[in-house]
Amino acid sequence: MNTQDELFSFADDDAISSTSSQNHSNWRILIADDDDDVHDSTVFALRSLNILNRPLEFLHAYSAAESVELLRQNTNVAVILLDVVMETEDAGLRIVKTIRQELGLAEVRIILRTGQPGYAPEMEAIGQYEINDYKTKNELTRIKLYTSLTTAIRSYDQLQRLNASRAGLRQILDASHAFITAEGLCDFAAGVIMQIAGFIGIQPEGLVCARALGQKDDPGPYEIIGAAGRYAHLINQPLALLEDAGIQDLIKRCLHERDTLIDDHAIVLFCPGRSGNDFAAFIDSYHPLGNKDRNLIDLFCANIGLCGDNISLISRLRDAATVDSLVKLPNRLAFIDIIDQQLEDDANNDHVVALLNIDGFAEFNDVLDSRYGDLLLREISNNLRQQLPASVLVARVGGAGFGLLGADEYVNPQVLHNLFRTPLVIDGIESLVSFSMGMVRTRDFPSNGSELFQCASVAQKRAKAEGQIGKSAYYTLETRNEIRDSSRLLHDLRLAMQGDQSPFFLVYQPQIDLASDRVVGLEALIRWKNQDGTIVPPDRFIPIAEQSGLIVPLGNWILRTALADLQRMRTAGFKSICMAVNVSAVQFRHPDFLSSIDDSLFDSGIAGEHLELEITESVGILSMEIMQNILSELKTRRISIAIDDFGTGFSSLSYLDRFQADRLKIDRSFITLIGTDQPGVRITEMVVPLGQQLGMKVLAEGVENVEQLERLRQLGCDEIQGYYTGRPMVLEALLQWLIERPGFRGVDA
Ligand code: C2E
Ligand code: CA
Ligand code: CA
Repeated sequence: MNTQDELFSFADDDAISSTSSQNHSNWRILIADDDDDVHDSTVFALRSLNILNRPLEFLHAYSAAESVELLRQNTNVAVILLDVVMETEDAGLRIVKTIRQELGLAEVRIILRTGQPGYAPEMEAIGQYEINDYKTKNELTRIKLYTSLTTAIRSYDQLQRLNASRAGLRQILDASHAFITAEGLCDFAAGVIMQIAGFIGIQPEGLVCARALGQKDDPGPYEIIGAAGRYAHLINQPLALLEDAGIQDLIKRCLHERDTLIDDHAIVLFCPGRSGNDFAAFIDSYHPLGNKDRNLIDLFCANIGLCGDNISLISRLRDAATVDSLVKLPNRLAFIDIIDQQLEDDANNDHVVALLNIDGFAEFNDVLDSRYGDLLLREISNNLRQQLPASVLVARVGGAGFGLLGADEYVNPQVLHNLFRTPLVIDGIESLVSFSMGMVRTRDFPSNGSELFQCASVAQKRAKAEGQIGKSAYYTLETRNEIRDSSRLLHDLRLAMQGDQSPFFLVYQPQIDLASDRVVGLEALIRWKNQDGTIVPPDRFIPIAEQSGLIVPLGNWILRTALADLQRMRTAGFKSICMAVNVSAVQFRHPDFLSSIDDSLFDSGIAGEHLELEITESVGILSMEIMQNILSELKTRRISIAIDDFGTGFSSLSYLDRFQADRLKIDRSFITLIGTDQPGVRITEMVVPLGQQLGMKVLAEGVENVEQLERLRQLGCDEIQGYYTGRPMVLEALLQWLIERPGFRGVDA
């Protein structure tokens, strides 16, 4: 037996049935009478009967005082069969006031019974205390008892529902005051749910209010704005998260057909709102509605819809702050909020937060126009939204950035890269988009939304580091430790650069021409000696200096020091040696770059032709125009350019050609392969003639043994640099090394 039958009986006028109910609480009837026989005969007359499909349960009191005590303990009594004459002539009548006012039992129905025919209680008392019926004891035959009890119980039942619904109304009113707060819509929906539950007479369980966020032609996505019972956790979530697809369909159908739906197991109430702000309320159990109730509910829904209009005005204002207006996805604020909510709802939540940054979006905007950029963003949004399951949250979190939150099986680099394998077609132009992705697993870092966002953002920047595209990275414990170390290092680096005593010094590594065996150049390499005497390797602190911009002043110091040392070597007689100085892309694009080089050359008295700048291919991320401008300025000063670490970057041959560099330095990682049978071994063989054909000298870095040297000589490589021929040395050691070098050809002219 369930609520279905209850309402069935409610709708049915003949409400007496003898089926028993297990699920429902009983109607409690208090028999208050000082006569034992009345108790017995009443119970006998009403034995095994159900009213509105619930059985009756009897409480017994034998005096007015006992009645009050019983009612104090049992507030859910539906009907009191109250004897007027008990301890006193009107003891029964007197306790009515106590029941209504002192005990506050406004809903209990009271049927007065008098022993003497013709004795009528004062009409005044009946009116004042809301006595609902009045019978003489000999009128209480089985049939007459049914009738008056059924009437009383039905009215008690309706009163209860009305009050529940009033409580709902109260909540709706309160919600209207809270419009300005973000909770407005939720409270409103909660009120609606309580009110509907009250109307239909069920517990506010298994109820969902939802609305469509889109427009008529394209209604989705749908959002749950209120829920109770087992669905309560879904408030503010996409409707798609509701596991039961049947319920989803019913709600969508209701919103589409704009009509209340009644199905075998559910009712979905349609609440119309102005300007398409309709919403639907799903109720989990089936109650056939009588026509009267149907009309009432329609009226109710219409009113609720109107209230909702006001709310949705507010929520539109709120949306402006949380929804991206271009692509109609949650914005960054909302994204972080939703992550927070999910973490709150489910502490063991195991999801991935991912940030996707469109590679080269600025170029898309530049090369085509910004309208094209907008269309591209929309297309990407649609693609993400359509191809990922609804359980994955998609947000737009920045100009070229999207945020995802969802299960690992969907939110992972492979799946996401696959979504964009085929080019997007916009205005007939095909665009192949790729993303740099940063991810973090919520279970790895149980923190809050903004911290997780920050982590994913760090990972994303790392994925994009050095101008790479289409890469992804996870923020892990290691990442965190590295970042901690880096910030410590940055702190130390700042201190080191401010201090009076510079912990930095330069070492110089010889570069040797293979044909003549002469030292043709020196590469300046920086060293950082800590106070405790340990050396911080440049591979560690140079990237941090680059990220922080400290490389600019540090780079200036390196340039000045190296040129000053070169001047000292010239004074010592080594006049034909060139100084090669490493220059990072950050320095290269700095507006003062050229002038600081001019100043250093001028102050050291070194001619441009004795200076070489080593740049890596990452300089190529600068715009071609800027780069070519600087390169030609350097050319006019006769400063040469070496391409450092060749083979490790993402260079294309056309790049190499445009650099018009003087020297190509094959990265050490290829040189170490010489003499092995590993795959990259042939790179060196190919690069030597390639560089030479493009008009460059080819230098092999990191030559550590004679085998490598001989092989390079065979290949026709021009120059070598490495531990085999000479380690990086401080100036004094270098001068000594030069003098003692076997085959030293004497002081240059
Ligand atoms: P790099 O420019 O490729 O420098 C060559 C690195 O290889 C140097 O490491 C050098 O000591 C090492 N090396 C030379 N020969 C051999 C060899 O035969 N075997 C091995 N295993 N290593 C060899 P170092 O000095 O630790 O510098 C590392 C990187 O730090 C440099 O790579 C460069 O990218 C950066 N760096 C060093 N000094 C400077 C500087 O003054 N300015 C800038 N911007 N970057 C610098
Ligand atoms: Ca170098
Ligand atoms: Ca190098």
